[in-house]
Amino acid sequence: MISLTGNFTTSVNEFSDLLKRLFHKTNNIDQFSANRGLPEGMLNEILSHKPLGVAIPEAYGGRGNSAREVLALLTATSYESLPLALTFGINIGLFIGPIAKYADDTAKGDIFGRFLDDRNMGGMMITEPNHGSDALNMQTSYRETEAGYKIDGTKHWQGLTGLARYWLIAARKQQANGSAGRDVDFFICDSSKENQQIVVEEYFDTLGLYMIPYGRNKVDVTLPINYKLNPQTTGINMMLDILHRSRMQFPGMAMGFIKRMLDEATTHCRDRVLGKGNLLSKDAIAFMIARMQSAYTICSAMCVRSCHISGLDVNLSSEGLEANSIKALVTDLMQDSAQTLVQVSGAKGYQLSHIGGRGIVDSRPFQIFEGPNEMLYTQVAEAITRLMKKQQQSNLFTFLESFTLTAKSCQFFKSELSVSLSNILPQRKMSDLGKILSRVMSLSYVIDLDGKGFRLDLIDNCIQIVRQEVAALMATFQNESNVQVIADYESGSSWTNFA
Ligand SMILES: Cc1cc2nc3c(=O)[nH]c(=O)nc-3n(C[C@H](O)[C@H](O)[C@H](O)COP(=O)(O)OP(=O)(O)OC[C@H]3O[C@@H](n4cnc5c(N)ncnc54)[C@H](O)[C@@H]3O)c2cc1C
Repeated sequence: MISLTGNFTTSVNEFSDLLKRLFHKTNNIDQFSANRGLPEGMLNEILSHKPLGVAIPEAYGGRGNSAREVLALLTATSYESLPLALTFGINIGLFIGPIAKYADDTAKGDIFGRFLDDRNMGGMMITEPNHGSDALNMQTSYRETEAGYKIDGTKHWQGLTGLARYWLIAARKQQANGSAGRDVDFFICDSSKENQQIVVEEYFDTLGLYMIPYGRNKVDVTLPINYKLNPQTTGINMMLDILHRSRMQFPGMAMGFIKRMLDEATTHCRDRVLGKGNLLSKDAIAFMIARMQSAYTICSAMCVRSCHISGLDVNLSSEGLEANSIKALVTDLMQDSAQTLVQVSGAKGYQLSHIGGRGIVDSRPFQIFEGPNEMLYTQVAEAITRLMKKQQQSNLFTFLESFTLTAKSCQFFKSELSVSLSNILPQRKMSDLGKILSRVMSLSYVIDLDGKGFRLDLIDNCIQIVRQEVAALMATFQNESNVQVIADYESGSSWTNFA
């Protein structure tokens, strides 16, 4: 049981033991992971230990939503199961946190009580079939009626579709002429109540994350007046605050997952003897494992940073640079770590019952949802180049040297980054630049760990590996490329005509 008042470290350790028992003794996760959902009663048993109480405000009986405790819970959970950690991440980042911060006080008591006592869950509905990355153009709309807010639209790809009782639904206000207003508002929906039921039109056959149902949801509901969230300024700013905090929560989900991939790979490479020694004694393998350790170090540093900057009381609406950089890089590191585990495992890794194979498909969508990574990297580059233009500075290194988030780390890349940026960069280059900047920023977090007693050998290795990656990325960035898609590529390109 997660104690709602006592020592957190003890109770998160006990929770971790509970997951180990449920996943490895009572059931066998490597077997049931090939099926959708969880074995009968398992989710209920897990939720009965009140893990989500960590995120509920103290005034409503929870532990108060401390970023450190939330990230520690996600870390412990993702070591055992990434889908379960994502289930908690959705509930905490996309429902409980936003309710704690923006819901009407009259709505909170009942909802939080049901999370704590009735094991209920909540998710968020933003994406629509015709509006994904361009969410601000969503067509789900609302209008005020005598009975409350009437909301109409279709949403899809919501995590916990058909399983969560509560939803936060994003919608735009219907104008007098029938069109949708510019701002986005959020509404609580209690799908157990009359007029608030969400109709699941289809369940999706997701590639991974079998534990979590996804699908298409028809929204045609009428909600009480106190179920509309109250933004501090605009609805879009509220949405950014919510999404940026959620992105800063990703390192918690990534931490346990990356550590698990690393531990599995290390154990396998130690035990697998080929020829004169084990796999770990082979140079190329040792480098691959060292890269996983570098991912572990970066992710640890991101967790520490996130704890400092992402508290619920902070307004993160303008913190897109760090939120986007953290989310995109840490999810790339998750996917890389899973790919490495499968590679070092040989054919053994190519099994659904192997955690590496599942790790690849389970971590893959983290690079897509809450902002596809290429778009986030582009936004990182846009934020920095905007600041450079403002300061009329075209030399990348000179700028980064004076910029708080990169000043400590950019010294390691002086020769690579001492380049003059052209005023207009094509989108493909902006994405490359974002990858570079995210790595430089993340190394600043790693350097911050240095003074705190974190292992220096891990930090030193990490610096070397990130230097190598940045050098490779800079080479790509500087390589002029204007290749375009060739229309009608099939005519004149069939190999059989040339053999
Ligand atoms: C496992 C999973 C869980 C999810 N959970 C939720 C959830 O809980 N709630 C929810 O509301 N949604 C959820 N989503 C939806 C997710 O947020 C969207 O899939 C995502 O925003 C991308 O939208 P899309 O799928 O429509 O892709 P599109 O918008 O069609 O984009 C496709 C690709 O094109 C690229 N692209 C798009 N526009 C541009 C551009 N202007 N320039 C260059 N490239 C561009 C994108 O980077 C992307 O790679 C989830 C999705 C998945 C896969």
